[in-house]
Amino acid sequence: MRWRSGCASVTDAGPCAPLDRARALDLNTPHPISKRMDTPKLMIGCPHCGATNRVPAERAGESPHCGKCGQPLLAGHPLELSDDNFDAVVGAAKLPVLVDFWAPWCGPCRAMAPAFAQAAQQLDGQALLVKVNSDDNPALSQRFGIRSIPTLVKLQQGREVRRQSGALPAGAIVALAR
Ligand SMILES: [Zn+2]
Repeated sequence: MRWRSGCASVTDAGPCAPLDRARALDLNTPHPISKRMDTPKLMIGCPHCGATNRVPAERAGESPHCGKCGQPLLAGHPLELSDDNFDAVVGAAKLPVLVDFWAPWCGPCRAMAPAFAQAAQQLDGQALLVKVNSDDNPALSQRFGIRSIPTLVKLQQGREVRRQSGALPAGAIVALAR
C-alpha cells in the first residue's frame, strides 16, 4: 500500500498534503449510496432491510425513511454526496451541515471516519453530516478551496460559518457541528 508523504499510516494525525487524483486508492465506501448523473435523486440502500430507495436530493436532509420497512434510512449515518447532488441536498437542508472533505488514500481521513460516524449518530436530528470524496468531486473541492484533508466545513443555510482541518475526535466534531 502506498501512502502520500505526510500520510505514512492511519495513525498519522496531521492533515495530508494537497490532493492528488493519481494516487487515489479505492479502499472503502463509507455508506451504500451511489449517485445518478441525470436526476437529483439519491439511491440510498436501507441499512435495515437492504432495499434501495430513491430519495429526492432536497429531501435527503429530512431523515428519510425506507419505503419498504419504514425504518430511518440514514439513522445517524453520514450522507455521501457528490458534485452532482451536493447543492440540492445542502441547499434544502434546514439543519446545520458539516461536510467532511476526505479521500480514500488519506490515512488521517480514514482514521477519523469512525469518529465522524459516531458524531453523526450523536447529532441525529440536530445536524446533517456529509462526506465528500475530494478526489471524485473536484468541483466542490475547488469551490471550497480545499488545500488539505481531512477538512471539515460547517454550513448554515448553505453559507460557510466554520472550518477546521486535520483529524478530530468525535467530541470535537460534535462541538463543531452544533
Ligand atoms: Zn428498509
